Amino acid sequence: MTTPVQQFKEQAEVLTHDLRHRGIIQTALGKYEVVRDRTKATFQDYQAARQAAGETKWEAINHLDKYLEQFVAKLEARGTKVHWATTGEQARDIILGIIREKKARSIIKSKAMTSEEIHLNDALEHAGFEVVESDLGEFIVQLRKEAPYHIVFPAMHLTRGDIKELFDRELGSNSSDSPEELTMVARRVLRKKYITADVGLTGANFAIAETGMISITENEGNARLTAALPKTMITLMGIEKVLPRLADLALFLPMLATSGTGQAITCYNTMYGGPRQPGETDGPEEYHLVLLDNRRTELLADAEQRDGLHCIRCGACLNVCPIFRNVGGHTYGTTYSGPIGSVITPHLRGLQEWKHLSFSSSLCGACTEACPVKINLAHHLLHNRRNAAKEKPSLLEKTAFKLFAFVFNRPGLYALVGKLGRIGQIFHGLVKGTRLDPAYGWTKTRDLPPIAKQTFKEWWRERS
Ligand code: SF4
Repeated sequence: MTTPVQQFKEQAEVLTHDLRHRGIIQTALGKYEVVRDRTKATFQDYQAARQAAGETKWEAINHLDKYLEQFVAKLEARGTKVHWATTGEQARDIILGIIREKKARSIIKSKAMTSEEIHLNDALEHAGFEVVESDLGEFIVQLRKEAPYHIVFPAMHLTRGDIKELFDRELGSNSSDSPEELTMVARRVLRKKYITADVGLTGANFAIAETGMISITENEGNARLTAALPKTMITLMGIEKVLPRLADLALFLPMLATSGTGQAITCYNTMYGGPRQPGETDGPEEYHLVLLDNRRTELLADAEQRDGLHCIRCGACLNVCPIFRNVGGHTYGTTYSGPIGSVITPHLRGLQEWKHLSFSSSLCGACTEACPVKINLAHHLLHNRRNAAKEKPSLLEKTAFKLFAFVFNRPGLYALVGKLGRIGQIFHGLVKGTRLDPAYGWTKTRDLPPIAKQTFKEWWRERS
């Protein structure tokens, strides 16, 4: 069986050599940076806005118990059924239970990364239900039987030619590859699904404690149709989505749009506060909210890395990450890829099995710079590395550091090793980059820094 680290290395090796794939990603993200920077410049003080967003999330997460209770009490008062799920399995069982009780057959879904996290589609299909993604990117990757490539742009790795071929094959369409025509093909299929679906399932971008409302922000209007047309609505959200006040959205909606897509504000911003109330003409008859923990409380208990829960899933850290841009989203083998995925996945799925993700970083700090809620991602990658080494030290590393300390504590030996290194360097060229090279792991793709011809001490002695 392939382990996560083997899978990462194998796929990264293939994709870093795949110039077509790299070209698609570079083109998509090149445009993103230009638009995002233009929108950022329209803020009076973007850095002050980041600071305020970070502090608000700090307040929400550090008082999560209080804000979650407040949020749930308000929702329940309007007739929402709230369910608490400690694990992904529990969340799947709760959702399956609701669907079975409603004798539903088909489910329409809007974008929800939490549902990817708990592999909900597989569970629903396995139980015999039809489930259709209504976000265009998610719809495309669902047709390809793939996981989303990116948390905001699920089909970023595909060209319009790829999508045309997919639609021709899977939907029997015969359109051109123009984005407008392709969108119309998907639209015709999806409209029918909205009308016939028994249950609508959504995620949530924010949960407002003050008013007991879910905020969903989107560009296609598909989440609105998902929530409005079926008789039963289910929202699945992680417990960390809470914001204290309604007014906080005035900051968070533009911050999310700017960092995520470079827009000043996303096209559709909707609040959901429960099922249809007496006298209202539309909305679901029944509304269920499933609150997912799935080891988030373990991250909450870690005071050092708790701010990993501040993430608003804008995807900005993925967009600027040189590793993500080269190896792509699927290589990570996780729901959350890129820097934030590398930080939180070891917490959510096990440190030892996923520690390699914390090494898939150049530590350039671009992710930390880009994060709209000021999570120090680069620093957390180092925390993960340290924790992994502390929990299960590598014998090789331990021996190497002992040897290092032994040599560095003995000036005579240090000088001798330096001299031997300089002699070895002369002959290194003969085996460099081959299997005979003792530093092959490094030199197969990189140069070893040359050892100086003369040490500082030698130079000083000569000078005086
Ligand atoms: S860590 Fe920051 S930049 Fe990355 S997705 Fe979350 S909010 Fe966005």
